[in-house]
Amino acid sequence: MNLDSLVRENIRQLKPYSSARSEFEGRAEVYLDANENPFETGLNRYPDPLQVELKGEIGHLKKVDPERIFIGNGSDEIIDLLIRIFCEPRRDQIVILPPTYGMYRVSADIADVGVLEVPLSSSFEPRPEAVLEKAGPNTKVLFLCSPNNPTGNCFERSRVEHLLSQFPGIVVVDEAYIDFSSAPSLIELLDDYPNLVVMQTFSKAWGLAGLRLGMAFTSKESVGLLNKVKPPYNINRLSQQAALNALQDREKVEKRVRTILGQRAVLVQYLTGLNFVEKIYPSETNFVLVKVSAPDHLYDYLVDRGIVVRNRSKVQLCAGCIRITVGRPEENERLFQELLDYRAPKNAETT
Ligand SMILES: *Cc1c(COP(=O)(O)O)cnc(C)c1O
Repeated sequence: MNLDSLVRENIRQLKPYSSARSEFEGRAEVYLDANENPFETGLNRYPDPLQVELKGEIGHLKKVDPERIFIGNGSDEIIDLLIRIFCEPRRDQIVILPPTYGMYRVSADIADVGVLEVPLSSSFEPRPEAVLEKAGPNTKVLFLCSPNNPTGNCFERSRVEHLLSQFPGIVVVDEAYIDFSSAPSLIELLDDYPNLVVMQTFSKAWGLAGLRLGMAFTSKESVGLLNKVKPPYNINRLSQQAALNALQDREKVEKRVRTILGQRAVLVQYLTGLNFVEKIYPSETNFVLVKVSAPDHLYDYLVDRGIVVRNRSKVQLCAGCIRITVGRPEENERLFQELLDYRAPKNAETT
């Protein structure tokens, strides 16, 4: 596949902004090049525009060449950049597989880029033939979310590989929840598919949603394009430092992930046998999708008791469903106590 032919003409032609810190890369004793304030505040200097140290550590952890890593101000920035690099407004389209994460569509809508929807199957799997049938010459980016939000499942590997080998554009696999999953990351397929972009984030398993740090693992060419289009200093100095600190304490992160996985099982146990619970979907994430007899009623009931869950009952293929994030043990226990007292209305409607 020819990556260049997928890129918007204006982006191919773009001469990117050249910052002071990217024009001089060595070490100097006196920096008078960037109009910074010379008095030390801890933050008076611009951050490293390419996050070299952080990418080194991430590359080490993920066994990926740092030149194949891009870091964004949250995965949300990466989604936005990919759409703006590859999709010409009012001409090109992305493909999404609902029910899925909402930001793919919002970013496309903001960029005035079309959105083709190919719903998942009733078992929440992608339908490769339907995707390929729908895609036309101006369909540039396919977003796959695996494990998927809000359904919680990992997609079958063969279906994803079918799409990777046949889809005539960029395939983004959003692995925001991969650390809660028993499935391996598709990072291992990077060498096989030049059109693959794997996204991960510091927001979930790493417990750093407030930092806003997302990662993309992809070809060097795609990293080059992302670097060309990103704001020069998109990752601030505090975020880079906090991520480096977190990477030094991986054991704490791994322990918390194990606790969350244990609590996920506890939550499923709690929910099993409640008479208003109709279905508990298997989860490879830190949340559980649950079908209940009266989702709006249950949602309001919990809010009245100070507990907020996500009502997904108006989302396609998710009629009757609420999404519950796995909390700390005492939080899950408190939810359970309230659920024990809950009485669903008679003649409840599922939607
Ligand atoms: C939570 C989540 C993210 C994280 O986005 P950030 O911008 O990195 O916080 C990405 N994708 C999906 C599907 C998510 O659910």
